[in-house]
Amino acid sequence: MTERLSALTKRLEEIDDIQRAAAVLGWDQMTYMPRGGNAGRGEQLATLASLAHERLVSPAFGAALAAFAEEAQGAPADDIRHALLRTVQRAYDQATKLPQELVARQMRLTVEAYESWVAARAAKDFAVFAPAFAKMVEISREIGEALGYPDEPYDALLDLSEPGMTAKAGAELLGELKAHLVPLVQEIAARKDRVDRSFLYGHFADESQWQLGLEAIEAFGFDFGRGRQDRSIHPFTTSFGVGDVRITTRISEESFASAFFSTLHEGGHGLYEQGLPAEWARTPLGQAISSGVHESQSRLWENLVGRSRAFWRYFLPRAKAVFPAQFGENGVEEIYRAVNYVEPSLIRVDADEVTYNLHIAVRFELERALMQGELKAKDVPEAWRAKMQQYLGVTPPDDLEGALQDIHWTGGLGGFIGYTVGNVVSAQLWEAAGRTIPDLTERITQGDFAPLLGFLRRELHQLGSQEKTEGFLRKATGEGLTTRPYLGYITGKYREIYGL
Ligand code: ZN
Repeated sequence: MTERLSALTKRLEEIDDIQRAAAVLGWDQMTYMPRGGNAGRGEQLATLASLAHERLVSPAFGAALAAFAEEAQGAPADDIRHALLRTVQRAYDQATKLPQELVARQMRLTVEAYESWVAARAAKDFAVFAPAFAKMVEISREIGEALGYPDEPYDALLDLSEPGMTAKAGAELLGELKAHLVPLVQEIAARKDRVDRSFLYGHFADESQWQLGLEAIEAFGFDFGRGRQDRSIHPFTTSFGVGDVRITTRISEESFASAFFSTLHEGGHGLYEQGLPAEWARTPLGQAISSGVHESQSRLWENLVGRSRAFWRYFLPRAKAVFPAQFGENGVEEIYRAVNYVEPSLIRVDADEVTYNLHIAVRFELERALMQGELKAKDVPEAWRAKMQQYLGVTPPDDLEGALQDIHWTGGLGGFIGYTVGNVVSAQLWEAAGRTIPDLTERITQGDFAPLLGFLRRELHQLGSQEKTEGFLRKATGEGLTTRPYLGYITGKYREIYGL
């Protein structure tokens, strides 16, 4: 390691340590902290965030980065230092382009928006939230202007979570999905009675559900020596380093699928975090490529694996051993169909594979119109109902089941596209894994997930952020981002299940 490189990484590592310490506090807040800790915890997190920010924008950091940039630019084209420089420069540019005053104003608005969102939900009335949301749109536009963008301010917000994503590209991606999925959803909705999932509801003891979920992700390869699961109201994954990855779940004793698939989902996020390159830990190069690519890992294990016939051939005997009364009568075919039940519904987080991206299209299109000034915050509920009716054929009875359902808008705009990128990428990787591992289905039937995890480790996890989304996809699958494998997977699978 050269002197300039170690001078830079030393600074990066300190910043990362501060951020991981904040992650521990954030994880604790969502899992074990008593309510009384709230005020103090907010102060502690704000202090750590500003410490990390101050270090990143400091003249000393700028000088270390400039010195390293000079060295990296002279390195051979395939030298890892180019990738490190790109990822650090990106973080540095973002931090220095946003005025401290704007960041502080947005943080204060987030608190105000959250409070009015909670009040609006209690009243089931978006109008209560609209004034704060209008300010959030306004401040999002300011952030877009500060960061810069190719065509429209919304591009800048998308780029924050999905580097390189633009409004135009996102609209095209969703447009291709809508063209195939809207008619498919209509056909399936007319044949709802073809699938029975009633046996997934009843009584499923909490402790047994907990154990069964852990057993599944342990089989996938989740390392409990370097991670653990706890409980929270909303499941999430966080990482304090490759040696300590935390996932959470929540259990409802009335329903089997909710906790089980949430554990597979978060377990997929966790496997990615555990596989990131230890040698670049505590630098931006050692982190995931984007939130969409992260979501591809959770979706792959939850859906492509967890909702496959092969998986249930392996896992149904395990599920029956734990829940003999509930699953004793059922065969693989019945559980496979039940866990793939499709229903156009109102709530995104409960949506199935076929309808999920249509929920994202609704949000993406409204956000883009808001950012362009074509839609006013107060008119969101009406536009929401119209799009839900058009894409899914359902209309929310009130705003609680409509435009007030997601917490995302209390913190800003632009975060939804990653879910769709994740779905699309998960199918691309699955197709490529199938080419690389010819007996993939048999291996999964035997409960042997090592070849699949090995493929993901090699093609994605161990790269960290060495490649951008497009570059990593080309190397791993031979193509850039494309909806073809996803649409092929969804159409083939669900036409068969619903006899279309
Ligand atoms: Zn996720």
